[in-house]
Order: sequence, then structure tokens, then C-alpha cells
Amino acid sequence: MAKHNLESENNLRRTKTKKTNRKNEGIPNELLSVTKKQREQRKEAFKSAILDYNLKQAPKTILITGCSGFIGSHLADALLAQGHRVLAIDNLSTGRLDNIRHLQENPDFNFACANMTYEVVLDRMASQADVIIHLAAAVGVKLIVERPVHTIETNVMGTEAVLQVGRRYGCRILIASTSEVYGKGNGIPYREDDDVVLGATSKSRWAYAASKMVDEFLGLAYQQEYNVPVVLLRLFNTVGPRQTGRYGMVIPRLVAQALTGEAITVYGDGMQSRCFCDVSDVVRAITGLVEHPEAPGRVYNIGGTEEIKILDLAKRIKALMDSPSEIVHIPYADAYPGGFEDMQRRVPDTNRIHELLGWQPKLSLDQILLRVRDDFKTQFAGEPKATQASVPTAKAS
Ligand code: UDP
Repeated sequence: MAKHNLESENNLRRTKTKKTNRKNEGIPNELLSVTKKQREQRKEAFKSAILDYNLKQAPKTILITGCSGFIGSHLADALLAQGHRVLAIDNLSTGRLDNIRHLQENPDFNFACANMTYEVVLDRMASQADVIIHLAAAVGVKLIVERPVHTIETNVMGTEAVLQVGRRYGCRILIASTSEVYGKGNGIPYREDDDVVLGATSKSRWAYAASKMVDEFLGLAYQQEYNVPVVLLRLFNTVGPRQTGRYGMVIPRLVAQALTGEAITVYGDGMQSRCFCDVSDVVRAITGLVEHPEAPGRVYNIGGTEEIKILDLAKRIKALMDSPSEIVHIPYADAYPGGFEDMQRRVPDTNRIHELLGWQPKLSLDQILLRVRDDFKTQFAGEPKATQASVPTAKAS
């Protein structure tokens, strides 16, 4: 059973779907009543809308898988604000009900708690949808190293299930992939059509990248063979309110450490670098790709371009939070199990999405960090909790 508060989940489901019954597995009755004719009409409406992008601002029904996760919940907020209807599916394994609780009274939002492989639920929700945004995945380095079977099965089978229902009901499909796909990289910045270099299959951390590569291949194959419009989102390090450090993400971890006065943990020498992008900028990129008629059939890098070394990030967080925490170095061998290989640099080339949508990130790293700080302060009302990180053998920086 997923780690969540069952009572809260049932309350949410009861409030949201007054007309449901046990037989419907929490799916609103209205979702069950779609006729073949309605489905055909929706497909036609979407196709004709694609012919004229400028006329295509009509509200759509958008299914988000992994909707109670950090990115999914922000995406739901944005799409609802744009006037769309959002159907949400999530098994609450890493997502949190708290992330979508504020949407429970919204008549344009429907939530089902189910696994992606639960075909009845997925099929019925997809039958109502014009667009599916598939975010549900096993993510976070910690989870991937600890549960490789779960990672591979969730990522590959979940995407396959989404592509099948999307094809059945004529939906546009956006699939979240990851910058991990670039593996050890072949030159900075990473371009979408670059060759990739992954590590040996004996190192389970590469299972995540490989599973997402299969997702990308499968998505492009569905477009090529079955003419299903598929858009692939290669997300780089995304940060913002509601993100948890529980699964290894560096900024929420380090900000929480700085706010609680715990040691700020830098893995290795801290010379590895990343580019961070605020979730609001990522959401703007995704909503643009939902609409644009020429988006399908391609992979898009989505990420920030301001590169920073992790040690410098730790110093910046300490200064910005005015924190007494000391910065400590954790050897990789203590931070991750079994010969983990960390990426030294990860920088996206975002020209492709910029050329299509004119997209570029708006928020600076300092603005991102302050938003994360404010979120922690609100969440814990001045009592930020520890990062759930055990801090192994540390040496001061
Ligand atoms: N990292 C760190 N301290 C932490 C957590 C992460 O130094 O407490 C490092 C990690 O080794 C990596 C970078 O921060 O080099 C980004 O890690 P994250 O898990 O956020 O994302 P990744 O880019 O590895 O997917």
C-alpha cells in the first residue's frame, strides 16, 4: 500500500466524486458515459484545431499521470487557470495528496488514485481526454538505486500503457523524459540529437536512463508507425515549491539543511555542476508544447542554463539563508550505494524549444532558492523539518 494517508485520500475522493460508486473504482460517472460518437467528435475537433493554431485556444480535457507529484501539481494549477479540464491519476507512491488538496473543490478537476498499469482506470480517463501528459515515473536517484526492478517496470510499462490508450482515443501525448538520458555526455551543452553514452548494465543507476530511453524510442515509434502525435520532454534539474528532498534532490535538501542549522551536505568535492530551472518555467514550456501544432514527433530539452558547481550552490544557499550550518563533504561511497557514478556537468541546449515557442527561463537561481525557502517556511510554519537525510561520515569544507 502506498505511503499516504488513506483517510485523507478517501475524503478527497468522496468530496470530488459524489456520484461515484464502488463499482466504478472512484471514477466519476460522467467519465463512464462517453459514447463512441462523442469520442469521434472530440478527435475531429482536436484535429481541426491543429489546422489553425491561432484558433486553437478552446478548453481541452487533459489527463495528467503523476499529477500529485511536484511538477504534475503545478501543471494542473496552470492548465486549470487557462480554462482546461484536468483529469488526474496517481498512485501516491512518491506524489503527495497535499500537493493537489487545494484543487478538490474545483469542478474541472477529477482525481483517481490508481497505478498506471490499472487499465480500467487509465482507459476510462483517457477516453475523455484530448491530451495526455505522462509524468508518472520512478524518479530520484535514491529510489532508482534502491529499487531497480520497480524503476524499470514503472517507467517502461507505464509509458506503454499510456501510448496504447492515447492511440485508442486519438490523444496528443506528452511524455516526460530526463536529462539522465544523456548519460556520461559527449560535450556540453547537450543537444537533443547528440549521441548518448550510458554505463554498464551491472550498475543499476543506469537503469533509469535506459528505461527513459526506451520510453523515448517507443513514443517516437508510435508517432512513426501509428501517426500518434507524441512530444518528448527531456527535463533537466527542476526545482520549486512542493519539491521534497526525500528522493535525493539537492536544492530542497540543502535549503532545509540551511534552515534547520544541520550540516549542508556536498557529495564528493562539489566540483560537479548543474543548471536549475524553476518549475513555473518548466510548466510554461510544457503548456506551450501541449498547444503548438508543430511540437509532436520531437524531443525537447527543458532546463535552466545558469550553470553552478554544487559547492558554490551550497555556499550560495548558506549565504542567502543567513545560515549557521557548516558545509561538509560526503564521500560518494557514503552518499550512494555501490559504485554510483555522478554526472560531472549537465547543461542543456534549449535552442529547439526556444525556436518553436520563444521559450526561455525567466527566474534566476537566487529567485528559485528564495521561492524554495519561502515554501519551507510556509509548510513548517517556522519549524522546518530535517531533510530525511542520514548524514554519513563528513569532513568540513
Ligand atoms: N548532491 C549533493 N548533496 C546532496 C544531494 C545531492 O551534493 O545532499 C549532488 C549530487 O551528487 C549531484 C547534484 O547534487 O551531483 C544534483 O543532485 P540531484 O539528486 O538533485 O540531481 P541529479 O542531477 O543528480 O539528477
